[in-house]
Amino acid sequence: MTRRLLIIEDTPTIARVQKHIAQKVGYEADIASSLAEAKELISQHSYFCAVVDFILPDAPTGEAVPCTIAADIPTIVMTGNLDETTRNIVEKHPIIDYITKENKQAYQYLEKQLTRLPRNEQIQVLVVDDSASTRHYICSLLTRHKYQVLEAEDGVQALKVLAENPTISVIITDNEMPNMNGDELCVEIRRLYSNDEKAIIGISALDTLHLSTRFLKSGADDYLRKPFNSEEFYCRLSQNVDMLENIKTIRLQANTDYLTKLPNRRYFFGEANSHLKAAKLANNQVSLGMIDVDHFKAINDKYGHDAGDEVLKGLAQCMQTYFKGNLVGRFGGEEFAVYFADQDAEKAYQRLEKFRLFVQKHSTEFSKDKVAFTLSIGFHCGPVYSLDELIKQADLKLYQAKESGRNKLIS
Ligand code: GH3
Ligand code: MG
Ligand code: MG
Ligand code: MG
Repeated sequence: MTRRLLIIEDTPTIARVQKHIAQKVGYEADIASSLAEAKELISQHSYFCAVVDFILPDAPTGEAVPCTIAADIPTIVMTGNLDETTRNIVEKHPIIDYITKENKQAYQYLEKQLTRLPRNEQIQVLVVDDSASTRHYICSLLTRHKYQVLEAEDGVQALKVLAENPTISVIITDNEMPNMNGDELCVEIRRLYSNDEKAIIGISALDTLHLSTRFLKSGADDYLRKPFNSEEFYCRLSQNVDMLENIKTIRLQANTDYLTKLPNRRYFFGEANSHLKAAKLANNQVSLGMIDVDHFKAINDKYGHDAGDEVLKGLAQCMQTYFKGNLVGRFGGEEFAVYFADQDAEKAYQRLEKFRLFVQKHSTEFSKDKVAFTLSIGFHCGPVYSLDELIKQADLKLYQAKESGRNKLIS
């Protein structure tokens, strides 16, 4: 879905820069050079957000701001300078943010905000407070920035909501609450979820000086002193969300094979090993297929390394769809593995055989050069609960498949 941004700006060069930034981060953007033009565009389209110049020829004192706000368009205000009067007007309206144009980092900051808004739509935040009015205020701040919001009245209810909604990533909690306090809630959350998974922001009243440290020692990542202004709230929240996102990205990179985007060997081992523990307890059968492209070196030699890469990428993509629900990984070079968690061994074997035949028939569709290739597969199943042993046995079968002519599956 392309999101539409409204840029209200009367200086054409600035409008162009803003449009360029918006397009770079995935928006479609319209430019209005006056308030009148903006009104016209608003009547024609629905906008995901707006970037509004504070001073326009037909709106000299910020009149465009209430206009986009009234149209329910999340608004970022750009101002030439931020004197007291401007600031007061800007702060009167529930805007997303204001950015001063004189600031060198202004456009980088705008890009950051435009990137965050669509991302926020995917982020669930749980607000825990026994006061309905505070909860309501925090929720309204969150929805203004397009976060998904959930609420709880105390710690006990918060834990229940967390259990029911495992994708919640930020918890904002008050301290003084009936049934379970904020710091007790932090301790309990940290017993269940790590700092890498969920961020906690505690809210403490000004007169309780030690509470902030108690929050942090109980596992919170940050805290806000009441009363807080919306700007501080957003800054702290964004920082925590960014931190979670960064951790997620780093983890994904560490677990993903760069070329094919499949899980790498390291991730495969971690996942398969933890599954094997469970399988052993339940006495379940497990099975594994080792898949190796035949004469891959010859493909590189004949078509070039890039074509070889393309074959690997195409094959990986195909494997991911074909073996959906099972663990697929690239072990290195042109060697892949599929771990069949709870599948019947016979069915797993049939699935691999079908895949081998599919590749034999369709391999040329994976690359521009229409490279034809085949696969050799080794399969092992049984109550084997050591991954090393499972791989060793499947590797032996793979070796047999290679030795006896390739393009075959041996179990
Ligand atoms: P066999 O049928 O016995 O498996 O023969 P093979 O040529 O497929 O196997 P061999 O192990 O001799 O060669 C694998 C080749 O894969 C050698 C290596 O240069 C190439 N290779 C490894 N990783 C990559 C990669 O990421 N991209 C490309 N294009 N080639 C790779
Ligand atoms: Mg309270
Ligand atoms: Mg090979
Ligand atoms: Mg090989």
